[in-house]
Amino acid sequence: MEHLLNLAPAAWKDWFREQGEPAFRARQLQNWVFSRRANGFTEMSDLPLRTRSRLEESFSLWTTEIAEQTHSSDGTEKLLLRLSDGHDIECVLLRDGPRRTVCVSSQVGCAMGCVFCASGLDGVVRSLTMGEIVEQVLRLDRLLGDEERLSHIVMMGMGEPLANLPQVTAALKTVCRPEALNISARRVTISTVGLPEGIRRLAKQGCPYHLAVSLHAPEDELRSRLVPVNQNTGIDAILQAADDYFRATGRRLTFEYVLLSGINDQPSHARQLAELLRERTALLNLIPFNPVSGLPYRAPSVAALQAFREVLESHGIPIRVRKRKGSRIDAACGQLRRLRSLQNSSASPR
Ligand code: SAH
Repeated sequence: MEHLLNLAPAAWKDWFREQGEPAFRARQLQNWVFSRRANGFTEMSDLPLRTRSRLEESFSLWTTEIAEQTHSSDGTEKLLLRLSDGHDIECVLLRDGPRRTVCVSSQVGCAMGCVFCASGLDGVVRSLTMGEIVEQVLRLDRLLGDEERLSHIVMMGMGEPLANLPQVTAALKTVCRPEALNISARRVTISTVGLPEGIRRLAKQGCPYHLAVSLHAPEDELRSRLVPVNQNTGIDAILQAADDYFRATGRRLTFEYVLLSGINDQPSHARQLAELLRERTALLNLIPFNPVSGLPYRAPSVAALQAFREVLESHGIPIRVRKRKGSRIDAACGQLRRLRSLQNSSASPR
């Protein structure tokens, strides 16, 4: 059986044609899947029964199971999804004023090896298919109430999206279309560790997605310690690729900077960072470290964060400090999966 969401809706049309069905059936199916939030083919009451059972025989709509669902008092909801091959991934729904944002994973695990991140501690298992990426968005969309509408997508879950670019962009194209969830490319953020080739390939897609580059250090020696893949690239090449992305899309860049107490949160780091960002049209997103059990890092003190911020502001760098949402449900991606796999391995008899 084929995963319906692994096919672009254009291929759904072909299937109906092969079945000798009228073309408008594909539109009805799209409507059920993306707008009417159907949970199965049997619900699709304006399709003939025969068509519904043919769909049922040919396709699965879902390939994942909800292994765990958590809810935080600030409206954040998190799903741990079990893939058909038994691996787990995470995705999160965030509610912020009128915004409804989903944070989606692109891989099982991650190969980038950032030393403070829970997702990559055990390396990468595999990349997700387009269907598995679309499925996360739709599963989260189905947690919304009738009055709520998904407005933003961020590729900030597990994995490095630019290391799985074809599947990520195919999934985004599918869900963003006006006939699907109708989300403009401007409301989609792709967060990357900073792979220059991947950034250039993304720019060539001609979709002005918002690009966020995870910088985390202002010079190569420190960055290579925190983000080992930096040894292959270096900050210069990443910034050049990001500048090209800005020129190609006109979208203001975001640089993310996870603050680790005593490591990259000193005023001297802030001054170097200001130097790097001064001439760029960029927003700096400061992210206080979200503790990961077993890792030795700490979030900066309030005073250190304030001092860091003031240095950058005095240089005129636009800053946002990321609010912590859903921290009680381990909403930082990779954390819930890791917790569960640690619990499972300690619970299994040996
Ligand atoms: N691979 C992509 C997406 C990663 S998740 C990337 O590197 O950008 C999105 C952001 O969360 C990244 O900036 C990542 O470095 C950051 N992050 C990872 N673990 C974190 C933690 N424990 N606390 C705070 N931010 C973290």
